[in-house]
Amino acid sequence: MAQAYPITDHYFDCVVVGAGGSGLRAAVGMVEAGLKVACITKVYPTRSHTVAAQGGINAALGNMNEDDWRFHMYDTVKGSDWLGDQDAIEYMTKNAPAAVYELEHYGVPFSRTAEGKIYQRAFGGQSVNYGKGQAYRTCAAADRTGHVILHTLFSQALRNKVQFFHEYFALDLIMDDEGACRGVMAMCIEDGSVHRFRAHLTCLATGGYGRVYASATSAHTCTGDGNAMVLRAGLPLQDLEFVQFHPSGIAGAGCLITEGARGEGGYLTNSEGERFMERYAPTAKDLASRDVVSRAMTIEINEGRGCGPNKDYIELHLEHLDPKLLHERLPGISETARIFAGVDVTKQPIPVVPTCHYNMGGIPTNYTTEVVRPVNGNPDAVVPGLMAVGEAGCASVHGANRLGGNSLIDLVVFGRAAAHRAAEIVQPGAAHKPLPRDAGEIAVARLDAVRNAKGSLTTGEIRTAMQRTMQRHASVFRDGPMLEEGCKKIAEVADSLAELRVNDRSKVWNSDVVEALELQNLMVLAVATMNAATFRTESRGAHAREDYPERDDANWMKHTLIWVDDRHKVRIDTRPVHGFTLSNEVEPVPPAKRVY
Ligand SMILES: Cc1cc2nc3c(=O)[nH]c(=O)nc-3n(C[C@H](O)[C@H](O)[C@H](O)COP(=O)(O)OP(=O)(O)OC[C@H]3O[C@@H](n4cnc5c(N)ncnc54)[C@H](O)[C@@H]3O)c2cc1C
Repeated sequence: MAQAYPITDHYFDCVVVGAGGSGLRAAVGMVEAGLKVACITKVYPTRSHTVAAQGGINAALGNMNEDDWRFHMYDTVKGSDWLGDQDAIEYMTKNAPAAVYELEHYGVPFSRTAEGKIYQRAFGGQSVNYGKGQAYRTCAAADRTGHVILHTLFSQALRNKVQFFHEYFALDLIMDDEGACRGVMAMCIEDGSVHRFRAHLTCLATGGYGRVYASATSAHTCTGDGNAMVLRAGLPLQDLEFVQFHPSGIAGAGCLITEGARGEGGYLTNSEGERFMERYAPTAKDLASRDVVSRAMTIEINEGRGCGPNKDYIELHLEHLDPKLLHERLPGISETARIFAGVDVTKQPIPVVPTCHYNMGGIPTNYTTEVVRPVNGNPDAVVPGLMAVGEAGCASVHGANRLGGNSLIDLVVFGRAAAHRAAEIVQPGAAHKPLPRDAGEIAVARLDAVRNAKGSLTTGEIRTAMQRTMQRHASVFRDGPMLEEGCKKIAEVADSLAELRVNDRSKVWNSDVVEALELQNLMVLAVATMNAATFRTESRGAHAREDYPERDDANWMKHTLIWVDDRHKVRIDTRPVHGFTLSNEVEPVPPAKRVY
């Protein structure tokens, strides 16, 4: 094996895996702190999914009306359905304005108000005065906010001399006998060579895993590789049952129409032309939180009031808005609607359905982004050498449901926090301890097995079976029998990986191998998500159980932790929610019924 795969060693202070908004922000800050940093990414940095973010980034700047970070904190805790950790939410909302100004100073070309301030639009679940009025908190650059943030951060990373290893596929973490992370194994996609990156700190910024579902707004590269590496390292993931379905994916295509479309005045109707959100959320209506709108849409469709010949979608109207506003504020989605739905938004409604959009769950961390797991009764014991940020991480600021615009701010606030923490704990240029002799061998063996897989099923066939099972059994509404059947079916699909066939055995740009590795990663996450959803017998945020329709704080105000072994067997435990704050500048938000 060693001869077939000679290993090249690299030595860095920190390795960041992922070059989306969170990975780039972390890498820039680490270099600014004098550390030697590698950034490994399987796609060219500017192709990371962050580029697709449209609507904007939340911070209580108060440019459009009065606002305060405490209102942002209140909305986020409420949006999370009280599953978010309040210390982390306090940290994020308090640091959000500074993080946005920093982006502005890095060069992000935000849209502007008439007085030249950063433009902010209304988004779902936002309020001022603790639920009393609409906030305008989402800072936007038209409907291409993620695009401009990603490109700006990439420029900063190049300027700061972050060393990029782009089109390198990270395979597995290198863990030592004491349970510390010592780096990561990766394959160069261009020539198939294998690399061992040694680092005092490894920061996973690998994004979400939306692609476990058949219909998703996320890029095909959102396969949860970092999350799967954590499971393979014997560590747990947190709250995977909470999957966000965005109300407005284009029916059939899955492409996103930003919530900003409703923020700018768009609204939804059923086949009777009724603005049905008035019935479900009398105050916030179309701008209620995403889980609330997605469930309302699903009920309308299930009760026969869907639009179109098959009564299977809802209509989103923008045609009443001024074409000049559409052109200025929503140019990207106007184009998307034309290409993917054949619709001219100035004249016709857009057909939309709830579509998998975001993973609230992920790698559990504290608010300084260090990965945690339970040890000897301490639920928050840090895994030395390992961090997680962005959609891969779970700090947990989004709890059971993420508010629109709160992911982009999570990326930069916690990317920055990771860099601050790295500066505190890593001595630049410190010597690397010797590694166990077999370090990385398991990863190479797995790569070799995939490249030579000679079964009867292609990656595409197994992936489709997995995506259909998830879409059918763990969607917007769930119930016990559906989920239990789902667990059985997904276990069968996972077993079928033993029958995988890979046709291309070459080393150069072997996308067959890369997709098979991604499928292995997706599969453990599908198994974990289905089992976690079965485990949680209550409804909270995005997790809506028809057999347990109420939130059950007495039994379930706690995080789920799940481990999956290499035979796809699961173990589940829980971890307390942090209901406390970091400072005395704000009181914890006490649990209440979540109404909009
Ligand atoms: C269509 C769409 C629109 C959105 N709009 C908004 C919005 O308006 N506001 C908002 O707040 N949020 C929005 N979101 C959510 C938000 O954009 C994402 O959660 C966020 O961009 C994720 O960023 P990230 O840094 O975690 O990772 P990503 O941007 O997903 O990047 C992941 C990185 O990890 C790398 N990577 C992954 N696996 C490997 C591997 N095995 N080896 C090496 N590298 C690897 C990739 O190459 C990539 O660089 C949107 C999401 C989508 C899908």
